[in-house]
This record gives sequence, structure tokens and C-alpha cells, in this order.
Amino acid sequence: MVLCDMHSHSSISFDGKNSPAEMCERAVQLGLSAYALTDHVECNFWLPRSEYENTNDYDAYDYRSRFAMARNTMPELKERYKGRLELLFGCELGQATQARSAAEEVWAAKELDLLIGSLHQVRKHDDFYFINLVNMPQDELEKLLKDYYYELVELACTADFDVMGHITYPLRYIIGEAGRSVDISENDEIIEQIFKELISRGKGIEINTSGLRQKYGKTMPDLKYVKMYRQLGGEILTLGSDSHCVEDLGKGIAEGIEIAKQAGFKYTAYFKQRKAQFLKL
Ligand SMILES: [Zn+2]
Ligand SMILES: [Zn+2]
Repeated sequence: MVLCDMHSHSSISFDGKNSPAEMCERAVQLGLSAYALTDHVECNFWLPRSEYENTNDYDAYDYRSRFAMARNTMPELKERYKGRLELLFGCELGQATQARSAAEEVWAAKELDLLIGSLHQVRKHDDFYFINLVNMPQDELEKLLKDYYYELVELACTADFDVMGHITYPLRYIIGEAGRSVDISENDEIIEQIFKELISRGKGIEINTSGLRQKYGKTMPDLKYVKMYRQLGGEILTLGSDSHCVEDLGKGIAEGIEIAKQAGFKYTAYFKQRKAQFLKL
């Protein structure tokens, strides 16, 4: 059972392989009840490259144009798949804490169905993907992780989004890729604070299943934190594969459903016009 997939990227994202239409075709094939295309908008690289002193290693800029592309593509796609697929226009908004004016332009887009609020790089640091975590001294590594969670608190308190993306994102790189060990529970109080803030603002979290097919081998977050969110009163939980190609679409959702159930969830959410709709697990 795959049910729905609320996190995926097409070739509109710099790291996506398949066109939006190819992704939708696959979603139909899988028989998804609801499917969201959530291409990246990295707020801190909203403008063309020439506007930035510090460049990024992805060589990915001008998210304003990318977002415009996603916006222009969606009406025709929704029309094409009408009656066959509950296609939702989403966006994974990165670093809204670092470039608020860019984020505000996205927030103004009334046709959005779903906004995932993510953090891929801590302020003044590169994306975790590029940081040399293998050789980083342990205290520095732990500080970086703590700074990540402090910035997530800020995101939870100040940004507009529907679900917070992959809240254990750094572990994909620290534990998975770099093979380092780190005690994330040092951050449990901050994470609890994030969840309380999300709950009070009516926002949810996602179970991002991409970690299952990567070295990290777990969902982001794993059962412990899904349970913590639930026990604090959290009710809005989406499931997303974070696929960047048709082959990965829907992957891990079945495992995600099991984790959701174990954490005490009876429903998973999808978002239509920024409002949560619930599907029974
Ligand atoms: Zn992400
Ligand atoms: Zn993503």
C-alpha cells in the first residue's frame, strides 16, 4: 500500500531527473490517492548567481524563475490528470529563516496546496551535503547539530508552511554518509519545543522515507520523534518519499505508514489549498 506521496521533485528542481508529467504518470501507475510535486525553492538563492557574493556548490540559483516554472506548469498538468490523480501543487521551501523577502513571494502564491518548510543549511554554513563531516571535531559536529535545531525553532516560530520537512536531516549526512556517531537526544528539549510550537500554530511534520534507501537507513524522523510529536498532541503527519526520479516515487511509504501507526496515528494528511485532508491508515 502506498496511499499518498507528499514530497517529490521533478526536473524543475536542480537535482530532479524526470519531468513533472513523467512524475505524474508514475503516480497514476502507483494508484496514489494524492500526490504532491514539491520542487525546491531555496530562499537564500532566490536570485541569479550574479547577485550573490558567496556561491553555492550545487550551482543552483534563481529559484524565483524555477518557482515561476513550477507555477506555470501546474494548471495544465492538473487539467490533464483531472479525475485520474489528486495532483497537488507543493513547494519545498528551504531556509525561509535566511531570506524572508524571497519566502514572502512564495507565501503570496494563492494556488499552492502544500508548503514544506525545510532547512538544508544552517545559517553561515553550506548544505550538509557539502560539509566535510568526516574530519570535523566532535564538539564542532555537536554544535552544528545544535545550531540546526535552534534554527528550526526559529523556522517553527516565524515561517509560513504546512509541514516541517525531514526534521532529522543532518543525520542523513552525519551518521549515514560520514559514518560519525552523534547523540541526537542532546537536542530532545529543543525538538520538543519545536513540536509544541508547530502544534500550537496548527502545523505538521512529515515522515520522509528517503533515508530508508540511503546509507542512513532510517526515516527522517524515526519512530522516536514521530511518537514524541504524537504524544505532545500532534495530529498532522504527511508521508513523503522525497523522490527525485520516477523509480523512487512512493518508495518507503509502506514502512512510513507502519511507523505512523506504531506512533499512534490513525490518519495521514495531505494538503489541498493549504488545508489538511485526512486519509485513514
Ligand atoms: Zn529537503
Ligand atoms: Zn525534498
